[in-house]
Amino acid sequence: MTTEFDYDLFVIGAGSGGVRAARMAASKGKKVAVAEERYLGGTCVNVGCVPKKLFVYASQFPELFHASKGYGWSGIESPTLDWATLRDNKTTEIERLNGIYNNLIDNSGADLFDGRATIAGPHLVVVNGKTYRAKVILVATGGWPYIPEFPGSEHAISSNEMFFLDELPKTAVVVGGGYIAVEFAGILNGLGVETHLIYRGPNLLKSFDREMSDKIKEGMIAKGVNVHLNTEINEITKTDSGLLSVALNNQADMAAGLVLYATGRVANTANLGLENTATVLSNNGAIVVDENFCTAEPSIYALGDVIDRVQLTPVAIQEAMVLVDHLYGEGLARIDYSDIPTAVFCQPELGTVGLGEEQARAEYADIAVYVSDFKPMLQTLGGGADRITMKLIVDTASDKVIGCHMVGEHAAEIIQGMGIALKAGATKAHFDATVGIHPSAAEEFVTMREKAR
Ligand code: NDP
Repeated sequence: MTTEFDYDLFVIGAGSGGVRAARMAASKGKKVAVAEERYLGGTCVNVGCVPKKLFVYASQFPELFHASKGYGWSGIESPTLDWATLRDNKTTEIERLNGIYNNLIDNSGADLFDGRATIAGPHLVVVNGKTYRAKVILVATGGWPYIPEFPGSEHAISSNEMFFLDELPKTAVVVGGGYIAVEFAGILNGLGVETHLIYRGPNLLKSFDREMSDKIKEGMIAKGVNVHLNTEINEITKTDSGLLSVALNNQADMAAGLVLYATGRVANTANLGLENTATVLSNNGAIVVDENFCTAEPSIYALGDVIDRVQLTPVAIQEAMVLVDHLYGEGLARIDYSDIPTAVFCQPELGTVGLGEEQARAEYADIAVYVSDFKPMLQTLGGGADRITMKLIVDTASDKVIGCHMVGEHAAEIIQGMGIALKAGATKAHFDATVGIHPSAAEEFVTMREKAR
């Protein structure tokens, strides 16, 4: 680096993508700074994936208590939840992770600034009243929940607040049909809250394989979630009792202690100083970048949720690895956005990689579909109503497996391995030649022989 600059790389935002880019660049001997105004680890660690998964675990215990009876256990007939214990233990764990992130940045040799950074020019970052000259600026500021404006929308909360509630309500309304809505509907229901999931369209999780999203809807209803499709909220009013009265377009008003809007997330680009650069934003406010994550301003790069390509932590991390290779390595790494395995931690859980059946039919001349639906072994003695559904979609011409989907327990864990198989170009013949692990649910993926369609 020439003395013209204070830093080779100045990263704004210490979330999953920003921290990975900072650490990798520092490990290559670059002088790196990271500025973070809120919390280390970003959405995923603080108000996303990690605390959400802890809440999912918490919400699953009642069903396990119930199942344990068939296995001879007693003494767990009327378990109760202490919400404050769950919430505070979760916060303690998140604080531990914040500390780990702090150490990761420290140990990498990067400088960490605790404060809001703004961009004053193509090479200028201002933080805590001081201006720094950076050869490259990386914007990794993530996203923020979006709540539409309507009468009473100020009474609605976002997923951010769900992690710090003073108490759990008796009744909750969750709005949306995407990842966050179905995940929180499952959590609240499992924790004993009467839960109403309100979605404006006809199908939950509409971007996924329809057969699988229908299974999820049926499973959620069987577990007690009240699902209201084709339904919209007109107004929310606060009543004298402190409850919220929710006026709907197609049925009687509902009273709830909490209304959660999980209606998407928008890029965090406001008041960042991007107007001081040539950076271009898309219609929805995300930063436009090229295949190397470079914005229209040659010294400014962006990645992760703020570019709104795929809002997933592991994708932001991969993007960071590719960027660092581009800036300071051989420049050969490329990111492939196809066949990204993903899971939705709703209940029942979804794990998926590759194309859904509808998409596969549109893109391929001829496909074969294999489906298996069965009762998980736990339930044989446990007596629960859960089922598992697995689905493989095969391109008939090449025999390649182009879609692999699962609804049911451990779907995320199982689909991760299937993601490797699809990435490697596995054919149905490879699946058939693989020996199963018995007794497991996963073995069903290598024993499906009868085409469903
Ligand atoms: P999604 O984009 O997944 O879903 C948003 C939902 O809100 C859609 O059903 C949408 O309906 C609905 N919606 C949007 N605007 C309105 C409105 N004005 N009124 C009523 N409904 C509306 O966003 P999420 O907030 O659920 O999650 C954001 C992202 O975070 C996800 O896309 C995902 O990438 C990531 N995430 C990943 C998780 C994981 O990996 N397990 C967990 C949680 C989040 P419509 O479809 O009709 O437009």
